[in-house]
Amino acid sequence: MGSARTIVIGGGLAGLAAATRLVEAGHEVTVLEAAKYGGGRSRSFHDPVLDREIDNGQHLMMGCYHETQAFLRTIGSEDDAVYYQRNLAVKMVKPGGVLVEFSCPALPAPFHLAAGLLGMRGVGIWAKAAALRAGLMLRNEVVRPDDNETCDAWLQRMGQTLELRGAFWEPLIWAVLNEDPLVASAAMLVAVLDRAFMSTRDASRLGVPKRPLSRLYVDHACDYLTAGGAALRFGAAVREIRVEGGRAVGVRLKDGSTLDAANLISAVPPHALLSMLPAQATQHWAFVDVQRLDTSPIINLWALVDRPLFEGPFVGLVGSPLHWVFDRDQIDPLPGSEGNLLSVTISGARSYIDDDPASLEGLFESELRKYFPRRPFELRKFRVVKERRATISHAAGTYHRRPETKSPVPGLLLAGDWTRTGLPATIESAVKSGHDAAAVVLDHQPPRRP
Ligand SMILES: Cc1cc2nc3c(=O)[nH]c(=O)nc-3n(C[C@H](O)[C@H](O)[C@H](O)COP(=O)(O)OP(=O)(O)OC[C@H]3O[C@@H](n4cnc5c(N)ncnc54)[C@H](O)[C@@H]3O)c2cc1C
Repeated sequence: MGSARTIVIGGGLAGLAAATRLVEAGHEVTVLEAAKYGGGRSRSFHDPVLDREIDNGQHLMMGCYHETQAFLRTIGSEDDAVYYQRNLAVKMVKPGGVLVEFSCPALPAPFHLAAGLLGMRGVGIWAKAAALRAGLMLRNEVVRPDDNETCDAWLQRMGQTLELRGAFWEPLIWAVLNEDPLVASAAMLVAVLDRAFMSTRDASRLGVPKRPLSRLYVDHACDYLTAGGAALRFGAAVREIRVEGGRAVGVRLKDGSTLDAANLISAVPPHALLSMLPAQATQHWAFVDVQRLDTSPIINLWALVDRPLFEGPFVGLVGSPLHWVFDRDQIDPLPGSEGNLLSVTISGARSYIDDDPASLEGLFESELRKYFPRRPFELRKFRVVKERRATISHAAGTYHRRPETKSPVPGLLLAGDWTRTGLPATIESAVKSGHDAAAVVLDHQPPRRP
């Protein structure tokens, strides 16, 4: 039987962020990760078809990802590893290739947003007026949504025109909440809008990782943790959280071995946590709520085409099931590339998750030819990556099911993008949850000092 002061279960962003904070404070940490690699739902791997390292899905960041930026700085990720826009700018394309452009000028927040909406190219004056009304809501001059109101109901209440919904709101909602605007929580959307648009101008800028995700943070985090004395164990799946006398005291691994710990931080998704808990604990109302959390899939289509289809790092497609198209060769050019590698995101992809690669390839070809008719392209290579449980579903009325950092079992802390961070399940939520769990451990136990 081994012992460790804090055991972190899960080596995704939340687990690595928690472990990093603890090691930074001189704490003794063991990270147990079931897979042979770290990164969880944001990782990269070598793909033999494309002969490149690709991400499991294209990840976007925002200037308001402050916890993520602090984490990347601590582990020594290079400053230029994420491409950040100078000011928020988004290009959307309509069928036939007509552009809708939204770009915020260099004014202080929230005037940059107001000026960006008024200057939007490709939408009419009523749409702009309606957008400004939503902006007023953000300034608390109109009733804000609660978690029971859907984005659809909120957009109607704000008088948002169909044109503006299609060109601005709906792509934003799919991207931020990974859920259908008809069911997604408006309060969750507003939580992001607040952070992005109501603080500083920089907060709303979008960031695209230039490096594959595992190079961006997993390698650096592992190096940092190992140098700080943490034990990192990959291929070490936890079968059971051991609870004795009502307190979490350690874990049992799949290989049968046990480890003791003063604190446990679970940083795994909901289904994995439930499978590790003793049956009695799962009857607590907090865990019954966790059982009621649903998930939402994301599909990423990777396609090598013979020419660029648009200028810039990414565009959104108005009214298409393919929501966003990223051109990896314009983000991080690969010397000797045989064309342009596109990464296409289908969020909330329930209708397509069981489709075979051939029909998704057909969907890709027909949609992209419809949106870029003046760029007849040749498709050279194609690859599908499906994440069935990409995030929890942010359906209206479900936020209260997300658990707090302190679980009902003393000694067991909960982290993960899906815990109650006040944010949708994103990179920032994952890192914040890890930092929050570490803060509880550090408050309760003074760190070991040499
Ligand atoms: C395709 C896709 C696109 C996305 N796009 C964006 C985006 O653009 N912007 C954004 O901000 N966010 C995005 N996200 C969300 C983001 O990836 C997640 O919020 C984040 O990666 C979650 O990290 P986590 O550490 O909470 O969980 P995970 O990454 O799921 O980590 C949990 C870890 O626990 C391990 N584990 C599970 N069971 C056990 C066990 N029994 N024992 C030990 N280890 C175990 C798993 O192997 C995993 O490594 C996207 C997600 C996906 C899937």
